[in-house]
Amino acid sequence: MAKLFWRYGAMAAGKTLALLGVAHNYERLGRSVVVYTAAIDDRYGEGTVGTRLGLQRPARTFATDTVFQASDLPAGTACVLVDEAQFLTPEQARQLHQIAVLGGVPVICYGLRTDFRGEGFAGALALSALADQLEELKTVCACGRKASFNMRVDAEGRRVNEGDQVSIGGDAAYIAVCPHRFYTDACRP
Ligand SMILES: [Zn+2]
Repeated sequence: MAKLFWRYGAMAAGKTLALLGVAHNYERLGRSVVVYTAAIDDRYGEGTVGTRLGLQRPARTFATDTVFQASDLPAGTACVLVDEAQFLTPEQARQLHQIAVLGGVPVICYGLRTDFRGEGFAGALALSALADQLEELKTVCACGRKASFNMRVDAEGRRVNEGDQVSIGGDAAYIAVCPHRFYTDACRP
């Protein structure tokens, strides 16, 4: 049975890099993949999956009204890869699970687990509930401990605790931090 994989992490955990690596490995073996990313994430241009290291590739985009179904995949698709999967709706997470379980095509979703308030993204919560296999992609806080939360900061580096859940940005707007710093603004000594 094909599986739905949920690979989550904080900002800058290498999620997109991992996705691009998986795509490359399939294609190296002559197998095709379909890559999706969120339409609202246009950091690298809409319909482009990119990394801070400069790697990028075109991708299909999904919005909240996108319907994922196996019949929309080219014949012979070996794997579906979804970046920014925290933006999926619960219904879309279920559709992707069905592509894996019923359609026989493995689906690997990459994304953030929580927002800057420490609340789970709807897509992340649904994927955590449905995925056949979960894996945390780890990154470190300035103190060296695992960074599992995301702190939003303004242009001067000051912490921001209010605002919309979604504010697309890279290193300038978010810092991956350990839980202690998330709650106290300071790492454990
Ligand atoms: Zn820390």
